[in-house]
Amino acid sequence: MSVATDKKRHYKTIDKTCYTANTVYLILHIFYLILFIVSKLTILIYVDAAVILIYLLFYLLIKNKKYYIYALCCGNEFFAFIAVTTVMLGFSTGFHFYLIGLCIVSFFTSYFSKTKDIRGSIVWAGLSLAIYLTLFFVTEYNAPYYAIEKWLELTLFSTHAFVVFGFIVAYLVVFLKYALSLEKKIMNESRTDELTQISNRYGLYDFFDLEEDKSSMALALFDIDDFKNINDTYGHVAGDYVLKRVAEIATTVLNDSFVCRYGGEEFVVVLSDDEQHSFFDRLEVLRKNVEKETFEFEKVKINITITIGVVNYIEGTSLEKWVEAADKKMYSGKNSGKNKTVI
Ligand code: GH3
Ligand code: MG
Ligand code: MG
Repeated sequence: MSVATDKKRHYKTIDKTCYTANTVYLILHIFYLILFIVSKLTILIYVDAAVILIYLLFYLLIKNKKYYIYALCCGNEFFAFIAVTTVMLGFSTGFHFYLIGLCIVSFFTSYFSKTKDIRGSIVWAGLSLAIYLTLFFVTEYNAPYYAIEKWLELTLFSTHAFVVFGFIVAYLVVFLKYALSLEKKIMNESRTDELTQISNRYGLYDFFDLEEDKSSMALALFDIDDFKNINDTYGHVAGDYVLKRVAEIATTVLNDSFVCRYGGEEFVVVLSDDEQHSFFDRLEVLRKNVEKETFEFEKVKINITITIGVVNYIEGTSLEKWVEAADKKMYSGKNSGKNKTVI
């Protein structure tokens, strides 16, 4: 996937998250407005109406992709709203729960920001704690501005508990899903050879570690003969083309086997006998297919051969030793005329 597509997807995730969050905040404030109207809390009705207006304007920030400013404004609005409502209605209404949620959201925001700088989030966390404690002590020593009825206090407290726990879970789910998909993508990319798009040697390490029963398997290392000449004669780009085609032929001929580009012009295959052919015969089919193939690159015809060294798995052997043994066989093939499979 291209960098541009990745960026687009990244912004789509942020965009969607911001829109959803803003809509939820807006709904919440409309809910407060209803409660404040029902309870005739005049000052809070005006405050909340103003906040609703601000949230409607926030959509413009998101639309213009000003995510950082949006997060900053949202955070400040929250701090101010929590402070006003807690002082006016009391600590037991649970508005303070938002401060805990805000800490998590601020780290989440910095993760998705361009700079990924968490220093800002640490400041937010510190600020949240300072406001939390201040509100606690202020309300401990001062009676709330409004003496509200029990039903309102309980409604607000349980709403805040639900909303904040819900938000924490939702943010963590989004974050985890994003991190997991990123991890999967990085793992795949780190195990794929850029040129041939087959597995690379790290893929071989994984294959070796994950394959439990290797007793019937053989490891073959093959190397293109006189490949330096191909590069020198036809150019590096032609050489690259040959490498790509060789990878295609190997994966087609040995389609049930593990094939990787081990490095340069060397490939590793881990295979077993199939119903009709021994692994040796199957490798010979590969060698002959490569030999008879004429690679055509920009109207130039290129013919190549490969030399294969193959070794059975010996119980308990390490991957390094297995590859080394196949390499020795391959080199004995190189020293005795090339274009052969040595067992
Ligand atoms: P031998 O038959 O003994 O294997 O001879 P050789 O010329 O193939 O061996 P040598 O090790 O001397 O040369 C390997 C060449 O493979 C040298 C290097 O430039 C080329 N090579 C390695 N990786 C790539 C690549 O990704 N693309 C291209 N075009 N060439 C590559
Ligand atoms: Mg070579
Ligand atoms: Mg080589």
